[in-house]
Amino acid sequence: MAGFSATVLTLMPEMFPGTLKQSLAGDALERGLWSLAVKDIRDHGIGRHRTVDDTPAGGGPGMVIRADVLAAAVDAAIPADDPRPRYLMSPRGRVFTQAEARKLATGPGVILVCGRFEGIDERIIAGRGFEEISIGDYVLSGGELAAQVILDAIIRLIPGVMGGEGSDFEESHEHGLLEYPQYTRPREWEGQEIPEVLLSGNHAAIARWRREEAERLTRERRPDLAAKIPPAPAKAAKKRPRAEIPPAEG
Ligand code: SAH
Repeated sequence: MAGFSATVLTLMPEMFPGTLKQSLAGDALERGLWSLAVKDIRDHGIGRHRTVDDTPAGGGPGMVIRADVLAAAVDAAIPADDPRPRYLMSPRGRVFTQAEARKLATGPGVILVCGRFEGIDERIIAGRGFEEISIGDYVLSGGELAAQVILDAIIRLIPGVMGGEGSDFEESHEHGLLEYPQYTRPREWEGQEIPEVLLSGNHAAIARWRREEAERLTRERRPDLAAKIPPAPAKAAKKRPRAEIPPAEG
């Protein structure tokens, strides 16, 4: 299969493509820049009721998705030598990052398993080579939204999906910095002006101001990132000016 292909295993297939059929990701899906296969884990459930879960060993609340049922779903959906990385949505996992999204965007795709209930039998991780991945330190009721968040972050970075290609994005988290403040017309709104420098046409001064603002915001909001602020690129002034505002009337 050419391009980026996502396979999602879920107990709620009707939740897909969900948000991913809208806007940027949806257009890209229609244009064939990525593809999505959604597999219902329940198709591999046991017995007449297609049971997929059971009570936790050792007791406790809730239900746990069975490893054998999930393995059958995985084995039916993907060949054993499928090169795509396999992720299990889990609040215990490593937190997904922009750097990882960028790396995956030029790869063959991803396989994502969405949990429900109390989670999934631990043995599937070693048994089918999954890695647990989280979208943040909070607990969702299921992995479907997490899978869509991860796919959305990746898809917008697939070459051809966004207008301006290339790797010189200045967005938050791309270079260990949060993004500088953005403005657009009108020039004055409720007494607040667009910072003068942005209307100056002086690209070097604009680049310097943006860099300073990005560093200030990162220090104020994210001390964890601020400790690792990378040195400013020497050629910052040559960066593609984004959404430049001419000294406008509006
Ligand atoms: N008992 C589990 C939570 C289960 S929540 C625990 O305490 O770790 C049910 C499912 O929602 C999980 O199996 C997982 O697939 C998904 N989920 C919940 N929070 C998530 C998060 N922050 N990131 C990714 N997936 C999450």
